Amino acid sequence: MNECDALQTMNFKGSLSRYLLKLRVQLKYPRLYRLSSWKNHSIQDTLRAWEIYHTLDFQWVRELRSWEKDQIREVEVLVQSISLNSSEDQVIWKVNGEAYNTKSSIEIMSAGDPRFIGNWNQIWKIKVPHKIQTFLWKLEAGALPTNESINLRLGDEFSKECPRCRGVTESVNHIFWNSLEAKSIWCMVANWWSLNATQKSKVGNSLKETLSIFKGIMVSAAWKASVAAVLWSLWLRRNNLIFNHYWETINSSAAMIKYRSFKWLRAEMNFTEELYNLWQVNPMGATMLHNKNGTYQDLVWWNAEFKAFTDGSWKFNGSIHSAGIGGYIEDTNQSLIFIFSGPSKAASPKEAEREAIIFAYKSFISQRSIQGRLQIITDCLTLVDEFQKCRAGNSTIEDHADWIGLIKNPYIKIVYSPRENLTSAHELAAQGVNSEYSLHAWC
Ligand SMILES: [Zn+2]
Repeated sequence: MNECDALQTMNFKGSLSRYLLKLRVQLKYPRLYRLSSWKNHSIQDTLRAWEIYHTLDFQWVRELRSWEKDQIREVEVLVQSISLNSSEDQVIWKVNGEAYNTKSSIEIMSAGDPRFIGNWNQIWKIKVPHKIQTFLWKLEAGALPTNESINLRLGDEFSKECPRCRGVTESVNHIFWNSLEAKSIWCMVANWWSLNATQKSKVGNSLKETLSIFKGIMVSAAWKASVAAVLWSLWLRRNNLIFNHYWETINSSAAMIKYRSFKWLRAEMNFTEELYNLWQVNPMGATMLHNKNGTYQDLVWWNAEFKAFTDGSWKFNGSIHSAGIGGYIEDTNQSLIFIFSGPSKAASPKEAEREAIIFAYKSFISQRSIQGRLQIITDCLTLVDEFQKCRAGNSTIEDHADWIGLIKNPYIKIVYSPRENLTSAHELAAQGVNSEYSLHAWC
């Protein structure tokens, strides 16, 4: 199935088909169009009249000849195929004439080009209403009635120009990714989601790549709903201009994107209403909070940068030495996510430092719900040096399983910071010296 076939497979009920109908009548029946006294009436008015009178006989500038009347019958058949009701637009399949449903669409798509299947699989998993999934699929399949695609069907009498930026073809890429307006909206979204440079560079390359910026289950679901809301809002914005001659400002589009995505997440993921204020300024934070309060224990937060502040404490009293370790882990927003403090059997200050580092490292990698890069901060220069040499392969690694694991883990890094930046970790380690048990907790 190629893109054109996909386009032919679908028909629209509602406002879009009314719009297309007028074009079709005008192009297919130019003589009738010239004779019409209703040229400037909207197709909606014409259809309303049709609903009342069930004929188009009254709207001509002169009496029609018999062959013209035959054409009128054809148009009437066309008009009859449009249902006018107050229900929402829906897609019907020309293949079986039934209202669109997932099962039939998957059957139809599976019969054809396999490239639809992969995209579809990803799209139907997005936590948005079915109507929006269908829209995304049409977007991917090149089946949206953009001016470019209508021009392909109807020929050059129909302009493929963007109604907003004259002289530019209104393609899918133009509407959703490349136009200045689309770009400023994506830029707003990137800031709203605090995307880093790598993540930003993925936005707009393709729908697939844009959707896959976050890998974790919850954050990814919230991000995908946001992406869907951007695309849907860009489409409604464009349709608003064409059908209602109204151009929404970027600010109000931004507000609508936040509102729509949140509304969908409320329905599909049980986000609570109280999260909306936070969602508007910090979608990641709202998602994290929802995850904390909710039933989703399987959060995986990839691409995030975490910092562990660690310290070892070593005391020597006469013939007895005692040691302790302590520290904590912060997320990107400098929120505390893990804290530890406890005694240590280390035989030297350096070994106490190493034990603190390894404790933070092991706690971090054992918490399967949080994944990302971890920067372990220590004030022990000797260990930083050892770590760097081992990582570079310039030194043999000490025979210590956890230390070897740390050095081989590309997501972990040990960095130096002077003691004054580690006062909290230092206190935790000092407390650890005197504790009987190790205390640690995920916050
Ligand atoms: Zn444009």
